[in-house]
Amino acid sequence: MNQKERKQSPLGIIQEIMRMSTEDGPGIRTTVFFKGCPLKCTWCHNPECISPIEQLQWTGSKCIGCKTCLEICPNNALSFGPQGISIDRSACRVCGKCADECPSLALELLGRRMTVEELADEVAKDRAYFEKSGGGITVSGGDPTMQAEFAGAFLKICKKKGLHTALDTCGLCNEETLKKLLPFADMVLYDLKEIDPEKHKDFTGHSNEKIFKNLLFIRDWIVSHGSPQELWVRTPIIPGATARKDNIQGLGKFIANNLKGQVNRWQLCAFNNLCGDKYTRLDLNWNFRGQPLITCDRMEELARAAKKSGVDPGIVFWSGSTRMEREDLAQEKEERPTLRLIQGGAGT
Ligand code: SF4
Ligand code: SF4
Repeated sequence: MNQKERKQSPLGIIQEIMRMSTEDGPGIRTTVFFKGCPLKCTWCHNPECISPIEQLQWTGSKCIGCKTCLEICPNNALSFGPQGISIDRSACRVCGKCADECPSLALELLGRRMTVEELADEVAKDRAYFEKSGGGITVSGGDPTMQAEFAGAFLKICKKKGLHTALDTCGLCNEETLKKLLPFADMVLYDLKEIDPEKHKDFTGHSNEKIFKNLLFIRDWIVSHGSPQELWVRTPIIPGATARKDNIQGLGKFIANNLKGQVNRWQLCAFNNLCGDKYTRLDLNWNFRGQPLITCDRMEELARAAKKSGVDPGIVFWSGSTRMEREDLAQEKEERPTLRLIQGGAGT
């Protein structure tokens, strides 16, 4: 594609292309993280994907203090102090000139503009992994519904190339948006986070009403179109928020009453606390800083509650990193690691 053609093609803003994922659908997958999300989950572990536009980030550990960036910036948005570089985000125009010149990549522009063809060619490089493992591509984010035209065109071209496609969404959008994506998705990964509408609003900034309604729309779409062929529901298990038995029982009841036999998997995803640095790099606060991982016993307990909620117990799985209990720790030798890693769908 020449520059003129590229200029005329619609561009998507992509945060990351993550290869070899085993968490975002069946097999080995290449997950494309779109920028932009309609929710603001307090626990979000991809804060770099919330904003729909490019962002500048600075990583202190990479900075060599050369101050090149200060001279480059046309807007005087950068200063250098005892803590290193500060970005005046009201002055920064996110032009990326400083990032281009930073010798140590301490300054980075988040979000890369790509055409559908560029993105599809990139993910198709992983075809051999998909074929061996029964995997494919997953559009995630952020939320791909925020760039629905582009995401739909990308899914379509992937399907044309014979790649298995998965749509990962938080479900807050209108039905017209879903109609642009569902025809080209082989499966849907759908987030149900919280059964209580008020709590959902507190945790994410929005009520869950539309999200539940859209899941029923997807259910009906699957019945009438025979596709997408698979539907997974995913629930983040967040200490002090969604990690409650009444929440799991309520979500289970909703699934049992409305989607019997239509959900292939209900995955409880343990809270991940490894994203604190991402917030620091973007000058953002994170209320979960220092929050320990959830215990393995707690995840098992919530999985048991899920299985007893009325759904087919065979669809319930949980995944993620957990911490050990006190009694486990006492039995461990001091030098042993204190994390127990449970990978993808350890059914309980
Ligand atoms: S150009 Fe990069 S390495 Fe040099 S001071 Fe700026 S951020 Fe640090
Ligand atoms: S992105 Fe552009 S405006 Fe923002 S700090 Fe860098 S050079 Fe300045």
